[in-house]
Amino acid sequence: MDEKDYYKLLDVGIEQIPEDVKTTERWEIPTVDIEYEGKTTIIKNWRKIIEQIHRDEKHLFKQICKELGAAGDIQHSSGRAVLKSIIKKSSLNKQIANYCKEYVICSTCGKPDTDIIKDGRNHVLKCQACGTRRIIKL
Ligand SMILES: [Zn+2]
Repeated sequence: MDEKDYYKLLDVGIEQIPEDVKTTERWEIPTVDIEYEGKTTIIKNWRKIIEQIHRDEKHLFKQICKELGAAGDIQHSSGRAVLKSIIKKSSLNKQIANYCKEYVICSTCGKPDTDIIKDGRNHVLKCQACGTRRIIKL
């Protein structure tokens, strides 16, 4: 293929990318905004984190609690999450980053434009940007 054809293909490729994929280029892994109240840790921006990663909040919360050995609740009315122990901000950010790498970000192109779909008995993380499918364990 000569250079001209290559660029022609590239143009076609770019045009075929849907709008909502193009606009997520500056997406970053969300970080927590926390506050301590007595012996609890409150994630104040929980709802915003969920909106950013487009995943089931119960699943993320369960993973965080499991990894940190903590218990807690999601407060739906306030959009916050509460952990019943003192957790360092860096530990929470690390859990969220790990979660994103496993359940949000495409391992091929690094974009967060993914969906979790069911394929037979498996759950598959499917990338809308490049089409990569990766089996995940929920
Ligand atoms: Zn991808």
